[in-house]
Amino acid sequence: MKLYNTLTRKIENFTPIKPSYVGMYTCGPTVYDYTHIGHLRKYVGDDILRRILEANGYSVKHVMNITDVGHLVSDQDQGDDKLEKGAKERGQTVWEVAKYFEDYFFRSTKLVNIERPSVVCRATEHIGEQIKLIQKLEEKGFTYQTEEAIYFDISKFPHYGKLSGQDLKEKQTGVRGDVVVDPNKKNPQDFALWFFVVGRFVTHSMRWASPWGEGFPGWHIECSAMSMEYLGNSFDPFDKLRINGEQTRTERSRSSRTIDIHTGGIDHIPVHHTNEIAQSEAASGKMFVRVWVHHNFLIVDGEKMSKSKKNFYRIDEILSKGFDPLALRYLFLTAHYRDSLNFTWKSLESTQNALNNLREEIRLWEQPKGSVGQYWQKFAEAANNDLNTPQAVAIMWEMVKSDIPTFQKSKDLAKMDEILGLGLQDFIGQKIEVPKEVMELVNIRETVRKKGDYKESDKLRHQIKKLGFEVEDTPSGPKVKQSV
Ligand code: AMP
Ligand code: ZN
Repeated sequence: MKLYNTLTRKIENFTPIKPSYVGMYTCGPTVYDYTHIGHLRKYVGDDILRRILEANGYSVKHVMNITDVGHLVSDQDQGDDKLEKGAKERGQTVWEVAKYFEDYFFRSTKLVNIERPSVVCRATEHIGEQIKLIQKLEEKGFTYQTEEAIYFDISKFPHYGKLSGQDLKEKQTGVRGDVVVDPNKKNPQDFALWFFVVGRFVTHSMRWASPWGEGFPGWHIECSAMSMEYLGNSFDPFDKLRINGEQTRTERSRSSRTIDIHTGGIDHIPVHHTNEIAQSEAASGKMFVRVWVHHNFLIVDGEKMSKSKKNFYRIDEILSKGFDPLALRYLFLTAHYRDSLNFTWKSLESTQNALNNLREEIRLWEQPKGSVGQYWQKFAEAANNDLNTPQAVAIMWEMVKSDIPTFQKSKDLAKMDEILGLGLQDFIGQKIEVPKEVMELVNIRETVRKKGDYKESDKLRHQIKKLGFEVEDTPSGPKVKQSV
């Protein structure tokens, strides 16, 4: 299996530290606003990566955090972060707001068939781990304290910026975290590990006791602390996972703190992941992550779909326009994860049609039989080539249109769908029995339509639709399909 590694800027052969086991960490959502379909593109990308790893026989422990501590997002902010603002606007507590948007996130990801990560960990439930990590950095001399915060001193870490390859002078300051400049910060790129509830933060409602005083963690520290907690060697293999009722995988201990794969959006490269590397490697003295995977954006009219630009659609808009959320997943698969993808309703319509046609076709197939065939092999090669999903989808269609026996096609398609996640198993060989009542209406409609009574024919189409079926008029007569 080959993967592009942002750290080396190369496509590499992927080999995990332990044979047959992969530890994978994904930067999860900030839960101060609604999940939009841009986020879903990224998390579908992670889901595909995990499924491909599993198809290669690896047992994957996939850990994802939930950023439920409020953080500043712009240098205009005077201490009231988005979570605090949301709570005031809604008349709720910050905890209620975070829970509401976390639930919305999981509802959205489930609709596009994203498997829940093996471990979901909230920043607010790992304050102790974050404090321990800051203490370690303090012991090793990587921190300094001002009235406002404890900072990581990047001048003490010689490889700072190795992920983005950017010169420090070119590097812009953070997109989130400590962007309001504290006059006592030594270097603009130094980033806060712990904020004190003083000055502009005096009303911050999320706060915890710490050895340095009451406050709250900076954004970056949570990912280092939790990824090393669940995937590094401090993790106890026999410890029950704290959050996630759905966990079934066997846990294994690790021989070093190095993590196999860490994922995120490309926006995380210059700041968040750069800072994660600095604080993790400074604390452990070991390489933090071997392979960094970054997903490109979903864009609208040439601009990134984002919460702040208010140019986003949610899964609810997809549903209310009558689309199947899996048509959105299909749309994501048509672009390579390292390329941007421009969202249009027209492109969603075309993947919805493709999905409908595929479902119709495979209903007529025999059930899977025998072993996987040549098309699966070709498909797997594409998937293993840095997750080339557009090519994989093209190979799937080549197979669908081929004249090999349908039991073989069914076998290969079922295997392909373990990666694609389009829910095709529910359709393979599931011929629709059209009820007599519906067939009678279809026949009456055909008679009135032939006579040119389109008003009556439309009325009948409506009646048929109410019974859950659609009629399509084709040159060879009416075709009946189940409504999607
Ligand atoms: P956030 O909750 O804003 O931190 O975003 C969570 C993840 O979604 C991050 O990894 C972002 O890079 C990613 N993301 C945000 N907007 C988009 C977008 N328009 N397309 C793809 N990924 C996105
Ligand atoms: Zn992160």
